[in-house]
Amino acid sequence: PFAAYEMAPLDPIIGLNEEFQRDDFPQKVIVGVGAYRDDAGKPYVLPCVREAEQRLVDQKLDMEYSGIAGDQKFVDLSLKFGYGEDSGALKEGRIQGVQALSGTGGLRVFGEMIRRHGHKHIYVPNPTWGNHIPIFQNSGLEVRKYRYYDASNSSLDFDGMIKDIQDIPAGSCVLLHACAHNPTGMDPTLEQWKQLSELFKKKQLFPFFDAAYQGFASGDAILDAASLRMFVDDGHLLGTIQSFSKNFGLYGHRVGTLSVVGSNAEEAARVVSQMKMVIRPMYSNPPRHGARIVSTILDDPKLKSDFYEQCKGMADRMNTMRTKLRDELEAVGSTRNWDHIVKQIGMFAYSGLNKEQVMEMRSKHHLYCTADGRISMAGVTTGNVSYIANAMHDVSK
Ligand code: PMP
Repeated sequence: PFAAYEMAPLDPIIGLNEEFQRDDFPQKVIVGVGAYRDDAGKPYVLPCVREAEQRLVDQKLDMEYSGIAGDQKFVDLSLKFGYGEDSGALKEGRIQGVQALSGTGGLRVFGEMIRRHGHKHIYVPNPTWGNHIPIFQNSGLEVRKYRYYDASNSSLDFDGMIKDIQDIPAGSCVLLHACAHNPTGMDPTLEQWKQLSELFKKKQLFPFFDAAYQGFASGDAILDAASLRMFVDDGHLLGTIQSFSKNFGLYGHRVGTLSVVGSNAEEAARVVSQMKMVIRPMYSNPPRHGARIVSTILDDPKLKSDFYEQCKGMADRMNTMRTKLRDELEAVGSTRNWDHIVKQIGMFAYSGLNKEQVMEMRSKHHLYCTADGRISMAGVTTGNVSYIANAMHDVSK
């Protein structure tokens, strides 16, 4: 039955790891996948996560199935984390959701659900996280793009964004990155978010927030939720996915939520019932352990404050590396302007290097980043920053 199967291409982001593994050059460097590394280049487990895990082990919990919607206590705490402890809409019961297979799973369930309810397309920023496109296509939606980035100035193309959004048909679903836009690292300012909120209202658009980096942008998880909270306060009805992969460092545990803000509690409950209709035949129910870790942390004042501190520690290290990388590029004699590396926020530096330059860095310097020139700042360390700067300069001089 398999004779006609062709070998599929490597994934443009995750496939880099495979290529990297095969490279036996001793100084090889990978700054591809968005996964945080400590300054020694090692994966990092937050101490609050270790402590929560220990508590869970000590409780000798059972390993029964979760419900289709997952762990309700986790969902409640996670919605408070995203929408705010004192969100009026949350208190009114208008915000409800389900545990999801991290951000990716939440996006997929959402895409499927809105397609079943009459949506034919979804609008995403150009560029966006590469996986958004096949996720929504696989949900049966046509993916359309709105302008987001001005490559010539390495900045947000806010005017282009507004112009394109103005032309989107009423009722359409429009994806917004809540903070730390991937891959550009450029977010609207609060004033610009306000303009967007007004425009979405006027044009009757349906906002869908992708919150994969809450805490990773400013280092403050509360500040990073400002866009989402503003839209809710402004009365929008919307959807949100939250991922706990990056901020809690729970990548492989697949922890996230998909939620909606409805006009009332009864409406929100109806939407959740539809999410469950998508989930049950797709994967039945989500895993338990990671959700228990997050809820243990968010439910305990000490662990919660440890989390805020440790998450900030990661954001701070990446920001230090932004400055170092820019400074090293200057030190090795690059005359190009690299200020955008410092100006950008979150996990990625959108370097501006083109595909040929990226490929040259790979073949000549054994430095691996994605083809769009996106460098994961999480992989930049005191030990490799000058090597990276040298390679970037060499291919761009
Ligand atoms: N959205 C964005 C913008 C992302 O960058 C990512 C991860 N790279 C995700 C969603 C989903 O990640 P995960 O499935 O690990 O939560």
